[in-house]
Amino acid sequence: MSQTAYISIGSNLGNPHQQVLAGLAKLGLIEATRVVVSSPWYLSLPMGPKDQPNYINGVAKIFTQLNPGQLLTALQKIEDTHGRVRSQRWGPRTLDLDILLYGCQVIDKEHLKIPHHGLKTRNFVLIPLADIAPKLVLPDGISLDSLLEVCSPEGIVPLASGDISDTIGQ
Ligand code: ATP
Ligand code: MG
Ligand code: MG
Repeated sequence: MSQTAYISIGSNLGNPHQQVLAGLAKLGLIEATRVVVSSPWYLSLPMGPKDQPNYINGVAKIFTQLNPGQLLTALQKIEDTHGRVRSQRWGPRTLDLDILLYGCQVIDKEHLKIPHHGLKTRNFVLIPLADIAPKLVLPDGISLDSLLEVCSPEGIVPLASGDISDTIGQ
């Protein structure tokens, strides 16, 4: 049976716009998985270390027959093919694919936490998620709407289509 999952897509290295577009395309190539819809792209300031380029972020809704563990493995394989090197926490990366939600499941394992731990507080996740799933309610009953109300819109702007030279006032 297919489940709905939401994947956050982010990049700030190696032509980030190309990275996120290719990452999105590769989501559609995962076995037993299809992309239903994807959000517009956003340019956002880096979280954590500031001495790194701005990010491009978006969110995709997928239908998948993979279980959460299989899905995580498939996403990490895609990250690897994009040359992702895990050195510094929240450091620069060519491609980051995180599972935000998987149906209404709650998973709390060492290597896999769903909902994603940053989902409730990261504007670069909440804003694109709301673009494609405005009525979403989290497994704990909290609505996306209520999270957006208290989330600062600072440090994120829509990416004008195809224009990576947009900047955010820093
Ligand atoms: P953050 O998780 O704060 O966004 P990050 O995405 O940079 O940081 P990664 O280096 O991509 O972190 O992943 C670190 C570990 O997080 C992975 O090895 C993976 O096992 C674990 N992880 C736990 N929950 C999830 C999830 N929902 N989606 C993706 N990875 C997850
Ligand atoms: Mg991440
Ligand atoms: Mg990650």
